[in-house]
Amino acid sequence: VRKILIIFCSTLLFASCKGSEIFGEQVQLLNFENKNKTVTLAEGALERLFLDPQVSDREVVIVSIAGALRKGKSFLLNYMLRYLYANYRSINTPDKVINEANDWIGDPNEPLKGFGWKSSTQRETTGILFWSDIFLHETSNGDKIAIYLVDTQGLFDHYSSPTDNIRIFSLSALMSSVQIMNMFNNLQESDLDFLQFATEVALFTAVDDESIKPFQKLFYIIRDWSTPDEYDYGHEGGNQFIKSFLKIRDFHSEESKKVRQYVQKSFDSIEGFLMPHPGKIVARNSSYDGRWGLIDEDFVDVMKELVPLLLAPKNLVVKTVNGVTVKAFELAVHMKQYIDLFKS
Ligand code: GDP
Repeated sequence: VRKILIIFCSTLLFASCKGSEIFGEQVQLLNFENKNKTVTLAEGALERLFLDPQVSDREVVIVSIAGALRKGKSFLLNYMLRYLYANYRSINTPDKVINEANDWIGDPNEPLKGFGWKSSTQRETTGILFWSDIFLHETSNGDKIAIYLVDTQGLFDHYSSPTDNIRIFSLSALMSSVQIMNMFNNLQESDLDFLQFATEVALFTAVDDESIKPFQKLFYIIRDWSTPDEYDYGHEGGNQFIKSFLKIRDFHSEESKKVRQYVQKSFDSIEGFLMPHPGKIVARNSSYDGRWGLIDEDFVDVMKELVPLLLAPKNLVVKTVNGVTVKAFELAVHMKQYIDLFKS
């Protein structure tokens, strides 16, 4: 009877796993308490995410997004979830058959689901949130990979001090293989100063071999980019913009030169991506439900370029620690160590 029940339930799950159906919820792994300045690790969440037998022995890809409040991070993550559900099996949909030529973005009228988005400007949660459903991938070499999607909340809002910002960002960047920095309009010199502080903290606390770069890929996404005639929307324009921004020039002060050298030394790669404004409905309408049929067409086109760039099988970046690939159960141990260091 139990067997029949299991087959019946998995058939139901499989049958409902069509379109942009999603299975999971956001799980808070790290909580930063603004009042008494502590970082707490949710041990149960750590076990659930990294010690589940379906993933514990897999290599990991962790894509994390950080940036200020209400700048479209969760909105973008939820489109990334759509891509992941269309292209990979997950621990909640292990028997799903993936159609090679799928149209991942789905129905234009489907409301957007996933990470909590459109939250108010009065957010009180400060922490690192994972999507509970973990995506599964087998490479052509037979390597087994688990893919995680992560939202970082509370950075640069009025509750967090500069020290909190540095701790949140350093921890997010240390645990991820791709760290997305979600920026608005442009990059400023102070953004680089921030990166330098955060990477210095991480180097000081968590890296054994100083010849190895502590972080892997840094991916700047600039929202509402307003000068496409200078640098065009998309990846090519974004990379040119970042290259030009990080280039050391004669007129730079010694400090500006140093910070550029430092930041480039800290990441395996730094890339950029420029996005257009999504249109008035997305930006201003409080009853908007996230459907892509109401987003400006050029934003949708650029998003269709962006999401596979981060998540297509050939673009996945596997997590390494001190230059060595780690499995999920090993990363759990590293995470505990990082958090202990950041507590003090
Ligand atoms: P988060 O706090 O950074 O995670 O922001 P959310 O994803 O919750 O989005 C906050 C608001 O910004 C929502 O009302 C979205 O509709 C809107 N939004 C999403 N993407 C963009 C964008 O690229 N530009 C602008 N101007 N607004 C956006």
